[in-house]
Amino acid sequence: MYSVLSCIVGQHNVWLVGLASLVCLAGVGVTLSLLHRAATTGGLQRYGWNFLTGVAAGAAIWCTHFIAMLAYNPGVPVTFMPVLTVVSLLVAVTGAGLGFAFATSGLTSAAPVIGGSAVGLAVAAMHYTGMLAYRIDGIVAWDETYLLTSIALSIIFAGAATRSALRADTMTGHLSAAALFVVAIVSLHFTGMTALQITPLNGAVEVADDPSTAMALAVAGMALVIIGAGISSYLIDDRARYDSYQRLQHMALHDPLTGLPNRTSFTNYLEFELDRAEGAKRKVAVLEIDLDRFKEVNDLRGHQAGDEVLKVIADRMSNLLREGEMVARVGGDEFTAVKTFIDPVTLVEFLERLQKVIFEPIEISDFEVSIGASIGVAIYPDDARDRENLLSNADLAMYRAKASATEDICFYESSMDERVRARRVLASDLRDAVKKNELSLHYQVQTSISTGEVIGYEALLRWHHPVRGAVPPVEFIPIAEETGLILELGEWVLKTACAAAAKWSQPLKIAINLSPVQFIHSDLPKLVEDALKESGLDAKRLELELTESTIVENKERTLAILQKIKELGVSIALDDFGTGYSSLETLRSFPFDKIKLDRCFMQDIEVSPQSKAIIRAVLALGKSLSIPILAEGIETNCQFMILKDEGCDAAQGYYIGRPGPSISIETEQEDLLTA
Ligand code: C2E
Ligand code: CA
Ligand code: CA
Repeated sequence: MYSVLSCIVGQHNVWLVGLASLVCLAGVGVTLSLLHRAATTGGLQRYGWNFLTGVAAGAAIWCTHFIAMLAYNPGVPVTFMPVLTVVSLLVAVTGAGLGFAFATSGLTSAAPVIGGSAVGLAVAAMHYTGMLAYRIDGIVAWDETYLLTSIALSIIFAGAATRSALRADTMTGHLSAAALFVVAIVSLHFTGMTALQITPLNGAVEVADDPSTAMALAVAGMALVIIGAGISSYLIDDRARYDSYQRLQHMALHDPLTGLPNRTSFTNYLEFELDRAEGAKRKVAVLEIDLDRFKEVNDLRGHQAGDEVLKVIADRMSNLLREGEMVARVGGDEFTAVKTFIDPVTLVEFLERLQKVIFEPIEISDFEVSIGASIGVAIYPDDARDRENLLSNADLAMYRAKASATEDICFYESSMDERVRARRVLASDLRDAVKKNELSLHYQVQTSISTGEVIGYEALLRWHHPVRGAVPPVEFIPIAEETGLILELGEWVLKTACAAAAKWSQPLKIAINLSPVQFIHSDLPKLVEDALKESGLDAKRLELELTESTIVENKERTLAILQKIKELGVSIALDDFGTGYSSLETLRSFPFDKIKLDRCFMQDIEVSPQSKAIIRAVLALGKSLSIPILAEGIETNCQFMILKDEGCDAAQGYYIGRPGPSISIETEQEDLLTA
């Protein structure tokens, strides 16, 4: 150790040693950065980075060595043999390149250590080839111990340095790898130089003015150029990476069609504005914007025209934005906007600006459209304090605007919009009701008026809500129809009622209500067939009830479906007759098996001659078409008697029997009729 230190201090030009160290440090820094890049890229790019690493490392090490050699003052004249000097440079570059390439190859888990050790060996090979090029006027002897130690140190430290460089992901990790590398190079060089013993030949001749300083500076200059090239490529790549990261970031946060921010950026922005507004005097308005006639454009002019419209509107909107305002596209033709304000006048003014550009006609190639929008507004902190509630309130207000014929912009109003929200809550509860067994069927008896005999039962759906209790069908059936849930419910009703009826002791009829939605969106004939098959119920015992509106909505399709169902042997009843269209055309269009006269006619039948006249007319109509009439909603004995006098065929109502969970009431009929 002492010999090494005295070698450095005593036989070297300290300034040049300093310069060598500088080159060494810079070289190691660049080498490790490039090495890291090589390890984290793949394919051809990795070869490129490996090459650069080899060149930078080899050049830096060689230059360090060369400058340090020039710093060495053996006390005798010195020359360098050009060929061997160049060979030593090649050894450094090639050895470092191959070593590092292996280190980053991932071939085995020991690759970094093996590759790094190979680099260490290359450094040693470079050093001693360089020494062969070093010609001195004197007798040269080598101390073998120092020589071997120097080679071992180089291999061990370079191996350790490369291993820790490829593992490091903290600053300290990188620094310790760099330190190990510097130690590898420095220990090799100076231990190697200690191994060198020179005895001057013809008496020591001090070399007066040797050119080594100029030479060292030139070599250092070259080293720095190479290192600089390494740094530049690293930085250029960094910039390219940053650019593509930015591009990805932009893609992730923006809608590709319009270039507007997307839902994610909108969410971030809104959260940010809400945070800022908290405790300040600022308010934040959230706007839900839904285009009005966009679907028309899409359907009539094609998607390309639709895209064009979206782009134009998006462009116009983003051009009108001022400080504290943003617009995002969050769905097909849905946009949201945020406006931070103190004076409400500025919010109104923002809405006017938006409305103006949305309603302004848009010219696309050969046509012109004027798109409108419905806008719902909710304001922080008045309408809600958090993002989700603000959005959902703005949404409710937007739906009110959509439904209104006169208003395009609606501000959230708790009283109005809460009703809508309650409906939505109910809809989501209903979704679970099927799974949670909250649904059941009640059965209401239908009897023949002339004989008093029970003809059958109508199945009526019941929902027992865990919190609200019994929810009436008039409330939840429309929701089920709007949400499409009626398909699932309808199927459940059909199968459950058929299965129940199949178990009855008497072969009575079971009447089941159908929704118009079931005619549009399900394969009803198949469903009915399956329900019959599964339950084993005789088709003749099943009666399906539908209202006139079902037929009017989609006449051809409905009639075709009814025909198929009828062919199964199932009968069809026209429900609620007299309330809607009551058209003779409907009665003529299909051979119904029963007409159910709506209960509204029963209410004043006892006092109103008009009601009685209508009932009489319907009964006559039924007679002439040979379709039996069932009167619904019979609540009193008097109503029952009037219908009996008029010759009505069948009856249903509280007077005869209320809907109940089972059909046990059938025995009571006789008493009621004779009462
Ligand atoms: P609807 O088909 O006209 O059913 C008869 C309704 O009148 C039942 O109401 C029944 O409880 C009620 N009702 C029976 N007798 C009387 C009476 O004497 N006086 C009065 N005031 N009402 C009487 P509910 O069960 O509340 O059902 C209401 C409507 O909900 C049904 O009218 C039907 O349109 C629909 N609905 C019920 N169950 C189902 C179903 O399973 N599927 C479908 N699609 N709709 C159903
Ligand atoms: Ca019915
Ligand atoms: Ca009815």
